[in-house]
Amino acid sequence: MKSDARVVVIGGGVVGCSVLYHLTKAGWKDVVLVERDQLTSGSTWHAAGGFHTLNGDPNVAKLQGYTIGLYDELERISGQSCGLHRTGGLLLADTMERMEWLKMAHGRARYLGLETELLTPKEAKNLLPLIEERYFVGAMLDAADGNLDPSGTTHAYAKSARIGGAEIYLQTRVTALERRPKGTWNVITDKGTIQAEHVVNAGGLWAREIGRMVGIELPVLAMEHMYLVTDEMPEVVEFNRTHGHELPHAIDFKAEIYMRQERSGMLLGTYEKACVPWQPRQTPWDFGNELLPPDLERIAPSLELGYRHFPAMERAGIKRVVNGPFTFSPDGNPLVGPVQGLPGFWCACAVMAGFSQGGGVGLALSQWMVNGDPGFDVWAMDVARYGEWATRGYTNVKVRENYSRRFSIRFPNEELPAARPQQTTALYDLLLEQGAVMGDSWGLEAPLWYAPRGVEPRDVVSFHRSNDFAHVKAECQGVRNAVGVTEIANFAKYEFAGSGAEGYLSRLMTNRIPSEGRLVLTPMLNGNGKLIGDFTIAKAAADRYLVWGSSQAQIYHMRWFEQHLPRDGSVRVRRLGLGLVGLSIAGPRSRELLARLADEDVSDGALRFLDHRNLDVANTPAMINRVTYTGDLGYEIWVAPEYLRRLYLAILDAGRDLGLVHFGMRALLSLRLEKNFPTWYRELRPIYGPFEAALERFVDLSKADFIGREAALREKESGGRLRRVSFVVDATDADVVGDEPIWHGGKVIGWVTSGGYGHCVDRSLAQGYVPRSLAGDTAAAAFEIEILGERRAATIAAEPLFDPQGRRMRG
Ligand SMILES: Cc1cc2nc3c(=O)[nH]c(=O)nc-3n(C[C@H](O)[C@H](O)[C@H](O)COP(=O)(O)OP(=O)(O)OC[C@H]3O[C@@H](n4cnc5c(N)ncnc54)[C@H](O)[C@@H]3O)c2cc1C
Repeated sequence: MKSDARVVVIGGGVVGCSVLYHLTKAGWKDVVLVERDQLTSGSTWHAAGGFHTLNGDPNVAKLQGYTIGLYDELERISGQSCGLHRTGGLLLADTMERMEWLKMAHGRARYLGLETELLTPKEAKNLLPLIEERYFVGAMLDAADGNLDPSGTTHAYAKSARIGGAEIYLQTRVTALERRPKGTWNVITDKGTIQAEHVVNAGGLWAREIGRMVGIELPVLAMEHMYLVTDEMPEVVEFNRTHGHELPHAIDFKAEIYMRQERSGMLLGTYEKACVPWQPRQTPWDFGNELLPPDLERIAPSLELGYRHFPAMERAGIKRVVNGPFTFSPDGNPLVGPVQGLPGFWCACAVMAGFSQGGGVGLALSQWMVNGDPGFDVWAMDVARYGEWATRGYTNVKVRENYSRRFSIRFPNEELPAARPQQTTALYDLLLEQGAVMGDSWGLEAPLWYAPRGVEPRDVVSFHRSNDFAHVKAECQGVRNAVGVTEIANFAKYEFAGSGAEGYLSRLMTNRIPSEGRLVLTPMLNGNGKLIGDFTIAKAAADRYLVWGSSQAQIYHMRWFEQHLPRDGSVRVRRLGLGLVGLSIAGPRSRELLARLADEDVSDGALRFLDHRNLDVANTPAMINRVTYTGDLGYEIWVAPEYLRRLYLAILDAGRDLGLVHFGMRALLSLRLEKNFPTWYRELRPIYGPFEAALERFVDLSKADFIGREAALREKESGGRLRRVSFVVDATDADVVGDEPIWHGGKVIGWVTSGGYGHCVDRSLAQGYVPRSLAGDTAAAAFEIEILGERRAATIAAEPLFDPQGRRMRG
């Protein structure tokens, strides 16, 4: 065994072997994999081996497409068969709502370059005669679906990696991990110690335990999962004989089952509601190649429905039942990437669909390690998307929710109920009394909208405009016509202090750094000049800056901030979390409201647009930022949490005769659409450059240096490939929700990032990216946007529909 290696991958399941292969493919030879037992001896060996491209997140769907395309390459390099059966797969809809969901997925697939087709029940039955047609209203065919041999595929990765120079040590268990003073790692095994620059946790069923070796509790939990294999079925034999090929895969969402041909019978698996976690605290180290006792009782409701929908299945004898554990994160997507605060420690775990996702995970991780950047948008599976609130108990509840909803529709306006409320502010009960309908914002309850007295505070989930529509409209109008108040505790906040803080921030951010008492809005770029953040910076004092950003990206951004801190200790960064909370007041009468509460002059001359000031507000020591995301006159008022309640009650009191309304996140997102403002994670992601995103006025290329400057300069000179544009959409009862295809001249040329209804301009609005050459086509109805399978005329709005000159916010 080597005593030194550049990378040690822990775990020889399909994911660890994929990471190892991709590292060698990226040119790193000095890489090893350490496996406790034999390759595949975690969850991999008993997998059903199915693969597909469908995923709620389009970027993960794309990576799944990559994984599936990789198997031919692996077979070629390794000479090892992956046992591929590229059969295609049917997604069967039992209701019109499910069909709408499939139409949405079909629309997305179009811009992702994935091949799907919508079918009638009859067409679906022609492909899979086992179906009882009357239970379904339609289907989608995904040509990329299929299945493989889990063991053959894992060995194909491993052989390809060995050919590329990697070494694999079997029967070798990692027992501890130690940070060395110089930042490298001691990987201590029962066969000796390897010193490594990088360690990858690909421990699958033991990923939690490996996390604990470095002092972290990863949000990952194993669940029991069952599938059964039938005896030979005459219907299958007959189909194979007459058609000369195998039956396609199928997912029956209603029965919560998936099925595929296995030899001359069928394999049928369930994601049952009565799901059961496996080893919720500690996975035993001696768990080996054994299965769990089957429990057909638990999956009986799914089987009953399945037998009705596929009658031949009931007649078939059951040859074997497999019950095995595999792991999930709270949202079901993998946990991938470097772990904040632990340089050189990487995760590649919680991969619930190893044969659809393993290749993409390996690609992302290897590029990230070798180039410092994954090379594409991996946010949906970044380990940094969870904070300290994702505890073991939280994970247990969320994973069970996710498992039991695996085949349920998630509506665009649907908030999932499990493990809530997890975090609340001091206003929680008061806002509920006002009729607040709450949503989850990075583990914190945040108001979405307010139901007036007499209206039930509950969302009716739908793909169409729903019961909140009129109430959100009233909130928007209240802001635009008078003044509104909203809680903004969920924003991310950071403090940077020290003699090096200004130079450091200037190097990280594209805009200039503000003078004392002023604010600046600024994007942040990675080395490739792509957007990795969007912030408001205040200079609070000499050598002290406060920075606000997107709530979900707090750990993601801390990881980046810490990675770039100077080694001389001249800069300190701190995440303020809920230690700083606040309220925003916005609308033409917001100044009048603030004046009633502040004991200083807040006139336009004294408190200018983009000023940052310490001020007593309602006797609380507060900080004011004169800025709001509504695009109106407005202020953020920030206080310590113990003052929040007092501040809020004082605002209510003082605003009563000014027409004060409460407004929630939905109104805020509508108001910003009317101003064409982009939002992090939708319009601003690491696949776009700042000029493509139309953020040029926040990029100060006259600064000598900042990360991504060279690439930004090149983008400016070339103009970039894409342009973010805003559209007015000819929509009637359903607005865009994001990821819809944009058509031009009969072709799909782009995709929607976000949108909704602009309540004060009375238009359906969308933002998205189109090729730069088309961004100037402002002719009426020059574009179309596909909403729920229908193409709607769309016209570029070259300037914001509300207050294009920005007089209101500056006024
Ligand atoms: C019944 C069932 C059906 C499934 N069907 C499908 C399917 O159809 N399609 C699909 O894509 N996925 C399916 N899966 C899921 C699939 O099995 C997983 O996504 C995949 O196995 C995850 O692989 P992994 O490498 O992350 O983890 P694992 O396979 O668990 O591998 C982790 C490895 O790490 C090793 N290890 C752990 N700790 C240490 C240590 N300290 N030192 C050294 N080695 C260590 C373990 O021995 C193990 O070999 C199914 C799972 C089950 C249970």
